[in-house]
Amino acid sequence: MNLQKLRSDFPGLHQDVHGKTLVYLDNAATMQKPRAVLDAMEKYFVEDCANVHRGVHLLSERATKSFEAVRGKIAKFIGSKDANEVVFTKGVTDAINLVAHSFGRKHLEKGQEIIISGMEHHSNIVPWQILAEEKGLTLKVVPVTDRGELDLEAYAKMIGPKTGLVSMVWVSNALGTVNPVKQIVDLAKAHDVPVMFDGAQALPHVPIDVEAIGCDFFAGSGHKCYGPTGAGFLWGKKKRLESMPPYQGGGDMIVSVTFEKSTYREPPARFEAGTPNIAGIIGLGAAIDYLGSIDLAAARAHEDDVTRYCAEQLSQTAGIKLVGTPTQRAGAVSFVMDDIHPHDIGTILDREGVAIRTGHHCAQPLMARMHVPATARASFGIYNTREEVDVLVGGLKKVRELMG
Ligand code: PMP
Repeated sequence: MNLQKLRSDFPGLHQDVHGKTLVYLDNAATMQKPRAVLDAMEKYFVEDCANVHRGVHLLSERATKSFEAVRGKIAKFIGSKDANEVVFTKGVTDAINLVAHSFGRKHLEKGQEIIISGMEHHSNIVPWQILAEEKGLTLKVVPVTDRGELDLEAYAKMIGPKTGLVSMVWVSNALGTVNPVKQIVDLAKAHDVPVMFDGAQALPHVPIDVEAIGCDFFAGSGHKCYGPTGAGFLWGKKKRLESMPPYQGGGDMIVSVTFEKSTYREPPARFEAGTPNIAGIIGLGAAIDYLGSIDLAAARAHEDDVTRYCAEQLSQTAGIKLVGTPTQRAGAVSFVMDDIHPHDIGTILDREGVAIRTGHHCAQPLMARMHVPATARASFGIYNTREEVDVLVGGLKKVRELMG
């Protein structure tokens, strides 16, 4: 793989911050975008700027064609044969809320349980809490081990006749843990329980095959996968989507409206009320095309090497303790340093040109479980390098000199 060529596809990488070369290691928060994504979005705004599904004119036809083509691209990328199983959303948060408020309200009943895990992002906790409160459901939480992995034995004991749904993160944004998704699904299927995956951090880092895995729902986000913000999707098995009522009402999702009664379109249109983020979805499609145009397996192998190198280097750096040491890791390494607050680490690193994330990573219960208030997190994309990890480690030594 030609790394320099690949890096040249991402204009955002090539800039100085505070007079230093940018080292962008905050990819789990959002990724840099390749030129191809920016061009596709600009083309829509400049040449095809019209609303979708509505107009009879050429611009609207072109916009609709580009927009609708993205469903098939997403379906193919995640191993679904049916483009109509892809519902466009704002992102993962929006997709999980859709399932909670539509599937959950319709199919889950008082006394039932929803199983999540102790390493969830808030977006896979709070929607279920809201639903649980409304419907009298109970949230069960699969514990996390000291290494930052799921306790599968506890999960196996937890699941049973009361379980109405399992919703879990595929790859942890805070620790980088890759969960054993096939095992999670197989156990759930033995009890005939539907499974949803939060795929925010899986989509960019690991191959996804929803049909082979056998899950029922999968949520993905464009901006975590080299695409724009505010554009993502929910994939759902056809029979599941067909069984679900609308989540939001408005234009584009109806067959007919009278003041007495409205009727709704089939999925996915039923779940896409109002004008969508047309440019964003087109940009997401361009990001998927871009990943199809490179040797993605080689790029991901390179990214895994850089991520592993970072974990190794940090574990050998004085004062640093990794938070989470999972056997399967993708995309992120979380750590703490002596008793220096992660915010100070992040601020000093920023002056060195190194962008990382510090805080609770929208996973407060997980921070409590790992006995830390917050961590510093370096997270990776296909364009990062071992040399950038060396700059991070050099910066951390400086942090220790200044603060230690
Ligand atoms: N889940 C995980 C694991 C995440 O990393 C994120 C984003 N930080 C989300 C959910 C929320 O995704 P979105 O920004 O698409 O709403």
